[in-house]
Amino acid sequence: MSTIFDQSRTERVGGLFPPLDVPTRKVDHLLPTSLVRTRAPRIPNKSEPELVRHYTRLSKMNYGVDDGLYPLGSCTMKYNPKICEDLARIPSFAGLHPLADARHAQGALRLLHEMSERLCGIAGLAAVTLQPAAGAHGELTGMFLVKRHFEERKEPMRTRILLPDSAHGTNPASATLAGFTVTELASGKDGLVDLEALDASLDETVAAIMLTVPNTLGLFESRILDVTERVHSAGALSYFDGANLNAFLGRARPGDMGADLFHFNLHKTFSTPHGGGGPGAGPLAVSAALADFLPVPRVVHDPEGYRLDWDAPRSIGSVHSFYGNFSVVLKAYAYLLLLGDEGLREVSENAVLNANYLQERLKRTYRLPYDRLCKHEFVLSGAGLAEGVSTLDIAKRLIDYGFHPPTIYFPLVVKEALMIEPTECESKETLDHFIAAMETIAREARENPELLHEAPRRAPVRRLDQTRAARNPVLRHPFDEKAP
Ligand SMILES: *Cc1c(COP(=O)(O)O)cnc(C)c1O
Repeated sequence: MSTIFDQSRTERVGGLFPPLDVPTRKVDHLLPTSLVRTRAPRIPNKSEPELVRHYTRLSKMNYGVDDGLYPLGSCTMKYNPKICEDLARIPSFAGLHPLADARHAQGALRLLHEMSERLCGIAGLAAVTLQPAAGAHGELTGMFLVKRHFEERKEPMRTRILLPDSAHGTNPASATLAGFTVTELASGKDGLVDLEALDASLDETVAAIMLTVPNTLGLFESRILDVTERVHSAGALSYFDGANLNAFLGRARPGDMGADLFHFNLHKTFSTPHGGGGPGAGPLAVSAALADFLPVPRVVHDPEGYRLDWDAPRSIGSVHSFYGNFSVVLKAYAYLLLLGDEGLREVSENAVLNANYLQERLKRTYRLPYDRLCKHEFVLSGAGLAEGVSTLDIAKRLIDYGFHPPTIYFPLVVKEALMIEPTECESKETLDHFIAAMETIAREARENPELLHEAPRRAPVRRLDQTRAARNPVLRHPFDEKAP
C-alpha cells in the first residue's frame, strides 16, 4: 500500500513556518547528546489538499460503531452519544490542570464524587475508586485489595484464586500478576458454575473466586447466591467481573448477589468509546470491609467543599497518576445523566431482547451449544456448518457483507465459538440484515465454500498474518528509520 512517505515530493509543502527564532545552541546542552538530532527529520512533504485526502482515505478504511453493527461479544460496542463528547471538550474540563488547587477544581471534583456515589448505587456496594484505566486494571487493583485483606487478617495461606474455565483471559492474568495462583473450575453441563466442583476446590488456601456475571456464555448464574454463600463460608471473597453489566444494568445489583468486589468497564456499559487501545476506565467498587484499602487520593466532601484526601494509612497506594482517565469518567457521567434510572433499565431490557431475538433466529442455521434464554449476548458454534469451513471463514465473510465480525474463538469452552452481542442500540431492521447475511453465509458454506475461504474480498486488506502483526509490529516507516 502506498504511504504518505512514498508519495512525498520535496517541492510540495503543506504549511509554511516562520523562521526559527530560538537559539538552538543554548538548549542543546540540556539534552543528552544521544537524543539530539544530527540531521533534519525526514518529514513527508505534501500539499494541504493531498494531505487531507490522504487521511480521509485512511479514515474510510476503518470500521466503527458509527459505520454499522459491531456485534463484538463481551466488548459491548454500543453507540456513543455525541453530546457526551461535546461535554468532555468543555474547556474548563478539558483544560483543567491535574495539579490545580482544589478551590479551582470544585466542579471536576464534584463530578468525580457524584460519579463514585452513582456507581456505588448501581453496584450495591459501599465505596468505589475511579482510578483504574481499564477493566483489567480494575481486576488487578481488586486483586491487590484481596491480598491486603488477607495480609491484615494474618491468613497468608490464602494464595489461590478460583476461576471458571469460561473466564476472560485478563482474569487469570490479573490474579497471577498480583502473586496468586489460579485454579480452574470446570463449568457444569449447563455452562454455569458447578457447585460440586466448587465445593471440591474450596478450602483455607482460597483467597477469592473471580466470576463474570452473567458469564461469558451470556448465561445468568442462576445459583449465584449459593456460589457466593459457599465462598464466604469458606472465608474467601467474591470478585465479580463487571464487563457484562449491560445485561442487568439498573435491574440487579452485584452487592445483593454477594459480590465483595466488582469492576465496571465504563468504556463498555457506559458508552464512552473504546477500541484500538484507546483510553478507558475500570472503576472498582468494594464492600465496606474493603473500603479502607482503596487507592489514594480519594475525593471527599466536607463543609469547605470537595477536596482530595491522601490520608489513608491502610490504602494500597495509587494505581494511576492523578485520578485516572478523567475525560472517560466525564463521558460516562454524562451518559448516566442523559439516561436517568429508567433509561438504564431500558438499556438492559433492550440489550437482552435484541440478543434473544438474534439467538432465536440464528439457532435455526447455526449450532447453539447452550440453548437457553440468554442475557445480552450468546455464543454460537461454527463447527459442523460445512466440511472444511471454520469460524474464521464465517467471520471474514461477514466483512464482505459490511458487518464487523463477532468475537471468535472465545470463550474457550465452545468449539469454533462465535460470540454475538448486538447491544441495545440496534434496530430490528439492522438485526434482520445481519440475520440475512449469516443465513447467506451458511448457504455459501455448503454450496461454494471457496467464497468463504477467500474472504474478505471487498476489504482494503485481505487476511492478515495476525501473529506476526502482534509479535513484530512495524510502527515506523523505513523512510525515517535512521532518525534521529
Ligand atoms: C473486556 C473484558 C475485560 C477486560 O476489560 P478491559 O477494559 O479490556 O481491560 C475483562 N473481562 C471481560 C469479561 C471482558 O469482556
